[in-house]
Amino acid sequence: MRVFSGIQPTGTLHLGNYFGMLRNAVKLQNEGNECFYSIVNLHAITLPQDPEALKKHTIEVAATMLAVGIDPEKSILFVQSDVPEHIQLAWVLSCIAPFGQMGRMIQFKEKTEKEAAALNLGLFSYPVLQAADILLYKADLVPVGKDQAQHLELCRELATKFNTRYGDFFPVPETLHPKITKVVGLDGSAKMSKSANNYIGITEDRESIWKKLKPAATDPARVTRSDPGNPFICNIYKLHELFSPKNDIEIVIDGCQTAKIGCIDCKQILFEHMDSHLKPIRDRYNEWMSDTKKVEAVLADGAEKARGIARETLAEVYDLVGFSYASK
Ligand code: SF4
Repeated sequence: MRVFSGIQPTGTLHLGNYFGMLRNAVKLQNEGNECFYSIVNLHAITLPQDPEALKKHTIEVAATMLAVGIDPEKSILFVQSDVPEHIQLAWVLSCIAPFGQMGRMIQFKEKTEKEAAALNLGLFSYPVLQAADILLYKADLVPVGKDQAQHLELCRELATKFNTRYGDFFPVPETLHPKITKVVGLDGSAKMSKSANNYIGITEDRESIWKKLKPAATDPARVTRSDPGNPFICNIYKLHELFSPKNDIEIVIDGCQTAKIGCIDCKQILFEHMDSHLKPIRDRYNEWMSDTKKVEAVLADGAEKARGIARETLAEVYDLVGFSYASK
């Protein structure tokens, strides 16, 4: 199966990204799929970005993906703007995208309500570029979270519409809803995210992880050390489920319910398991970041491979539409 997935280079990747997109990306790769993983910087600039930060984050995201297990020998890892065919195909698809339906995209509507002043044409046509990203590689499978399901549906419709108008050409991609573990933020009230500043970065150092874990929210019933608590409503317990072995999870459940352990003890157990899980990733990340030319070389190689396929698709699309394609 051919898989396409994009990730935005908008800063530090956190545990939510790790248990969401990244682990699944590695799994799909290791199951023998032909995976295209793109750092989608064209999508990122639909919101204002600092140019230097964007360049830096692009490399950091690539290094993180390599560190978690994306293997450039097995997957094609590239930066979206290095393959201009994404934009060229997006224009062709724009010309068959129904305007009314575009305006009904939930993410666009939400942004219209929340950030009317920041709206731009790129945000409006974002789902068409996303469709181009996928169709350019004739992907069969697209792993997406529920928030992206509507965009995927649009992609499927655009593929069908193109095929009806110009002849059967694009495979209509299937949506893959991977089993994604929702990671609650350290404040215990919302999904882990950068904007809520309630996250632990995948490559964050040991000291910094503990500095964030120590004051993290717990069951509010545990006002003092001797108050029993309910681990099942506590975000620290939910993190234990992701990082700690079964016997320690049992110790935490019993210790919390009977007040045999305090929240700091509980967090220390979590911290050690979390850190030993993340340390090899952090070490590999630091190794890649110690020579960013190597990361750039991986991305350049990925872009060349991606372009080879993208050019072929675009040449065929142009021919069907009635254009010549000078780069053929
Ligand atoms: Fe949460 Fe652990 Fe404290 Fe229980 S002991 S409330 S699970 S941090």
